[in-house]
Amino acid sequence: MEWVKEKMLVGGTWRKGVQSLAVYDPESGKKIAEVPAATKDDVQTAVFSAKNGAAINKKLPIHERSRILQDTAAYINTHFEVFVHTIISESSKTIKEARKEVHRCIETLRLSAEESKRLQGETIPFSQIPGHENRVGYVCRDPIGVVAAITPFNDPLNLVAHKIGPAIAAGNSVIVKPSTLTPLSTIRLAEAFLHAGLPAEILSVITGKGSEICDVLVQHEDVRFVSFTGGYETGRSILEKAGVKKTAMELGSNSPTIILADSNMEEAVAATVAGAFGVAGQNCISVQRIYVIDSIYSEFIKQYTKETKKLKIGSKIDENTDIGPMISEKEASRVENWILEAESAGAELCCGGKRVGAFLEPTVLTNVPDCALISKEEVFGPVVIINPVSSFNQAIELANDSRFGLQAGLFTSSIDLAFQAIERLDFGAVMINDSSDVRIDSMPFGGVKHSGIGREGVRYSIEAMTERKVVAFRLN
Ligand code: NAP
Repeated sequence: MEWVKEKMLVGGTWRKGVQSLAVYDPESGKKIAEVPAATKDDVQTAVFSAKNGAAINKKLPIHERSRILQDTAAYINTHFEVFVHTIISESSKTIKEARKEVHRCIETLRLSAEESKRLQGETIPFSQIPGHENRVGYVCRDPIGVVAAITPFNDPLNLVAHKIGPAIAAGNSVIVKPSTLTPLSTIRLAEAFLHAGLPAEILSVITGKGSEICDVLVQHEDVRFVSFTGGYETGRSILEKAGVKKTAMELGSNSPTIILADSNMEEAVAATVAGAFGVAGQNCISVQRIYVIDSIYSEFIKQYTKETKKLKIGSKIDENTDIGPMISEKEASRVENWILEAESAGAELCCGGKRVGAFLEPTVLTNVPDCALISKEEVFGPVVIINPVSSFNQAIELANDSRFGLQAGLFTSSIDLAFQAIERLDFGAVMINDSSDVRIDSMPFGGVKHSGIGREGVRYSIEAMTERKVVAFRLN
């Protein structure tokens, strides 16, 4: 047997399932593991245990929460290669991309340890209202309780750490439902937490089909926060079911980057090529739409195509590979069809477009009409569209002409235009002289419109995972 039979972590014990789900390597198509297909009863058990877990963590001193997070980060550092190879085996990521993700996961957990010590409150100046002169009071932060974390396939380790780390730092318990495509990194992460001495009731990992088991999790009265990262449709359906509880929605986008005539073209090309094709374009802030001022449009396309053609598509394990496979042949075939649809609507193919199994060449399309799916929706694949614009105003209007609004980029050497763009671009972040594809784990991360609700990024997640409590004393 070449594959491994994994267990899930339910209420402190590693469990087999009655039924299993296979996990495949997207590159070879080979089965690499089986994970339990959790039942609704398993979810109920996890929530029951998580209620105890929340009570246990609430009582843990902050230095102990912080130690557990630091020790988990240290464990991952010691077993770095295990985590790298787990990511490579189950996901689209190349060895270079997997290494970056493990480094970021360690950083996320260390940040969580540090931020756990900064959960501060404020005083309330009661005497501002006549009759309240003899009151003193303050606001403190209570842990919210049981957190449900539902995660996607594209960053199988660090996006999970972005939910578990802050949840533990804030004094909560957490139940993770990882993507069925990439559950193994979460299982390894849970092992790291237990090794670091996390009381077992504080963390559960439920493996199973989201469409079959997540309703129980999302609707459960004892779950007080649903932290979701994934597609818009799934996020909307969770919001419709969650009832009266807090949610965080980290959803998709079709991010734009604008290139003005006074840009440093070499830097703009390098940043937008890297931003479009990293992780085979399967990144929520991938550069999908590039708008270039028409005076430099032809030269930009020439240089962009030249740099894109240098990217090496190949095996994930090869140190020289820039682009690995997409997450599945089905997804690669969907993106290939979007390219064909754009071409039949009048778009021109500059390079790429060919698919073999789950591998799709990095693809550059120009003069793509607005009606094409790839102009409007999130492609989540290695395709970028480059269209000319006649003015700064037109670039801003086109960039904003989207139901999404996660991050945007702008290249210019004009400080005035940069500030105008910052004011007018309707996005969660605007990156000047950079592409949309910029993130560090401490910054507030999230979008507007259909890109989501709330902000992730360790400190902001910790805040979201606590409730403000007012305390007042009446003095004689
Ligand atoms: P997805 O299909 O929406 O799945 C995300 C998670 O939701 C998976 O664990 C999935 O479980 C679960 N799920 C499926 N149906 C559900 C239901 N009815 N109720 C509750 N949960 C359910 O997303 P994906 O294809 O894995 O990820 C790609 C998307 O994530 C893109 O749109 C991307 O932009 C977005 N994303 C956003 C961010 C951000 O921070 N803004 C970061 C990364 C990715 P199964 O795997 O079992 O179906």
